[in-house]
Amino acid sequence: MSHRSESLFHTRISSLLDIYRLLPSRVISDMAGMRLALGSKEGFIRQILGWREFVRHVHESTDGFRKLPGGKTPTAKAPGDGGYGRWVVEPNVLGMGTYALAGLMTTKPYVSGPAYINRMSDYCTLCPFNPKTDCPFTSLYWAFLARHEAVLRTNPRLRMPMASLGKREASRRKQDQEVYKRVGETLRKGDKVTPQKLP
Ligand code: SF4
Repeated sequence: MSHRSESLFHTRISSLLDIYRLLPSRVISDMAGMRLALGSKEGFIRQILGWREFVRHVHESTDGFRKLPGGKTPTAKAPGDGGYGRWVVEPNVLGMGTYALAGLMTTKPYVSGPAYINRMSDYCTLCPFNPKTDCPFTSLYWAFLARHEAVLRTNPRLRMPMASLGKREASRRKQDQEVYKRVGETLRKGDKVTPQKLP
């Protein structure tokens, strides 16, 4: 992710695939025939076959994410029923971020603290928060794990963070929940989260 580019390493063929003007099999066979580094080919084919097609099957088997395990219905508002709603909000927010499909789509919630965001982007260089000291994502990460501790405690892929959560001081856990509450209140008002607004 970079503030200098909207697409960066992403291709711009998603909309053509969404409306069936391009078929995944054609994209994959074209790519397989190109003279490119093996790692580049593998990464691209994995995105088309291993991610997009996988998400399409999850979409179909859940009736467009309406039938979730345990009969839960998603409450997040998708922006329309078009490509953006289908390909970003459903898999990334419901499936990965909030883990609303439980183990149907991913084996653990796709959540992180600021170190990962800092490693995967250049956003922190422009931010009034510092990823190593006062970034709210630290508290938001621990607050998420704490709120869902009962469900996540037995997930083998989260053994280490859940063990760290168990050792986190009570005062810090309390502050994590306060930051979570304040960030939510601020965003719901349509305001910006700034260092001055957090506890
Ligand atoms: S809020 Fe935290 S993770 Fe996000 S850009 Fe700022 S310092 Fe980085």
